[in-house]
Amino acid sequence: MISECRLCGGTNLRPWMTDGRNRDLVYYKCDDCSLWNYDLDCGVDQTQYTEVYISPRDVEHRSNRLNVDSWNFLRRYADSPRSIMDIGCGNAGLLHLAREAGWDVAGMELSRQAADSIREDQGIDVVVSDFLKYENPEGRSYDVVALRHVLEHLPDSLLAMRRIAALLKDNGLALLEFPNTGSFSYRLKRVLKNRGLKNAKYAPDWRPGHVNEFCRKSFEYLLDQTGFELVVWRTYSNKRVANAFYRWVPIASKVRVLVRKQPASAVGQEAA
Ligand SMILES: [Zn+2]
Repeated sequence: MISECRLCGGTNLRPWMTDGRNRDLVYYKCDDCSLWNYDLDCGVDQTQYTEVYISPRDVEHRSNRLNVDSWNFLRRYADSPRSIMDIGCGNAGLLHLAREAGWDVAGMELSRQAADSIREDQGIDVVVSDFLKYENPEGRSYDVVALRHVLEHLPDSLLAMRRIAALLKDNGLALLEFPNTGSFSYRLKRVLKNRGLKNAKYAPDWRPGHVNEFCRKSFEYLLDQTGFELVVWRTYSNKRVANAFYRWVPIASKVRVLVRKQPASAVGQEAA
């Protein structure tokens, strides 16, 4: 049971979706900010996502096609060569593309093994750290910080955005990607899971990795609280042909956003 929303602190929480084999893993929806709060007491598993290293030069690989999509989106709004920090950079596929376009690139990874593979294969330096604890000893700041498919795994979304802000220059851009609970597929998934129609595929000891699930409303609340403004909200699917449709009807299962860090003075004025 959760008594307070982890995003807005509100207490109007409703059991919203049950998950897992026995449907005893519960998400609560906040009626105030709309965040889906997973009950952490039910247990989480963040180890199910570890990946083997795929070189960015393997252009047909699925993960590299997703990196190309992220890069094409980013460069549309940030055209001249800039500096980028990709947090949780995976195989550094996004950094590979940015560097080819003349950008200064840096990455961060939890895994020493991933960082070593990237350095060996591409010569890109990757900091091995948890960005929520990263001290930034050289005080570096970037024009762009990317955080893709990480936000939904972190219980403290406010801290995550403040850590991103600390790595950004004023008016710098953050690129984020995460699932969209406002999507058609999430609505369907919820109905099926609550009726026990999508639960048999899970092992009894399976636990989710997504703990905070956002829609546009809850994400905009997060931005308000942390000194960012929304520049672009674009839902997308991994089925590329469908994306022309989703461009006009924004209900795809994932979302790619660009947000701008407001200068500290502007944030201070708003708070005053
Ligand atoms: Zn809330």
